[in-house]
Amino acid sequence: MLSDFVIIGAGAVGLASALELARRGARVTVLDKGQSGGESTWAGGGILSPLLPWQYGEEVNALSEYSRALFPAWRLRLEALSGLEAEYRVSGMLVLPPFEQQPAFAWCARHAWRHELRNSGDVLANGSNEASLWLPEVAQVRNPRLAKVLRGAALAAGVRILESVQVTGLVSAAGRIARLSTQQGDFSAAGFVVAAGAWSSALPGLEAFAERIFPVRGQMLLFKLPPDSLRSIVLHNGAYLIPRTDGHVLAGSTLEYSGFDKSTTQAAKRDLLAFAARILPALSDLVLSRHWSGLRPGSPDNVPVIGPCLGYDNLFINSGHFRYGVTMAPGSAVLLADLIEGKKPAISAAPYTAGMATPKMRELAADA
Ligand SMILES: Cc1cc2nc3c(=O)[nH]c(=O)nc-3n(C[C@H](O)[C@H](O)[C@H](O)COP(=O)(O)OP(=O)(O)OC[C@H]3O[C@@H](n4cnc5c(N)ncnc54)[C@H](O)[C@@H]3O)c2cc1C
Repeated sequence: MLSDFVIIGAGAVGLASALELARRGARVTVLDKGQSGGESTWAGGGILSPLLPWQYGEEVNALSEYSRALFPAWRLRLEALSGLEAEYRVSGMLVLPPFEQQPAFAWCARHAWRHELRNSGDVLANGSNEASLWLPEVAQVRNPRLAKVLRGAALAAGVRILESVQVTGLVSAAGRIARLSTQQGDFSAAGFVVAAGAWSSALPGLEAFAERIFPVRGQMLLFKLPPDSLRSIVLHNGAYLIPRTDGHVLAGSTLEYSGFDKSTTQAAKRDLLAFAARILPALSDLVLSRHWSGLRPGSPDNVPVIGPCLGYDNLFINSGHFRYGVTMAPGSAVLLADLIEGKKPAISAAPYTAGMATPKMRELAADA
């Protein structure tokens, strides 16, 4: 039987962790410095797959494939608990050239992904006719809706969510975390989970994680067209369009290493507008409704950090999912809970715990 836990961060990763720990019998409190799901989880595109999976290492694909398999039943359970919908939809993804056909086809065959070459004109009414890669099984969720579903489901499952509560300190004693400090008072528990997204390594005492988790800004544009103007996700040279069911279309995203600065820039707006109009000419300034940015929890090679933390017996981390934290949320939560419970996980945890053994972290763990 699991005991009580406090989780720092109510994004997709923190709330998925809370739900999984609660499902296994733990009493869970989640603290967030802002609104639950209000940071990267709100800002993201909700594509439930790495963009070009064959370009990533097995560590990324093992976790994202595990998570993708869990996703449909997971979101149904959360939707039933919350009474809300995340707009999960298998919309497919069209990859426009150039792409590496041989590695792409080999990867899809090895992972049993349906794939075929298709004319771009079949999906895009822009007069193009290029041999493109069609991945019909790629799904998506609508991030702000998923954030509401996660919050509602967590509350229905008995998780306590405290918003506008910023953790300012982790107080340790005898190799354990004794409590968390906040301006609203201290929080004690048997166990603690760091799921503070891009801010995970900004928590006092966790600065050594800065080499494993760092902010990477992503800017996004939102357009409004009539429904069905675009039906599938379209990817071209690293940028994408994502259609929602009500006619909204997202164009994203930038990858910027600008610290914790969340401002938007005219240069990114210009580039994303030009990209969007090239793919779908109806996407112009006239139908632009919003421009925002979010801070991804960046990590080297997009490999997250999941498991016990810094040698403290009762401190765990689930962070650094970079571009795929929504995709990886359910799988990461199950992996974390298995490690906490001492159960053998369905996939190897080694790639996600290995990154914690940096020299600085070993030094800190030895001092703890
Ligand atoms: C533009 C963009 C597009 C993206 N597209 C996709 C995509 O298509 N598919 C995909 O899978 N992923 C995508 N992502 C990535 C995905 O959104 C992130 O990996 C994921 O949301 C990370 O979730 P998280 O819970 O770790 O972080 P967050 O959602 O950022 O949550 C962390 C939470 O911790 C809280 N917090 C931080 N510090 C403290 C503190 N000291 N005390 C209390 N609370 C604290 C924050 O307020 C925040 O709410 C995208 C991201 C961006 C920005």
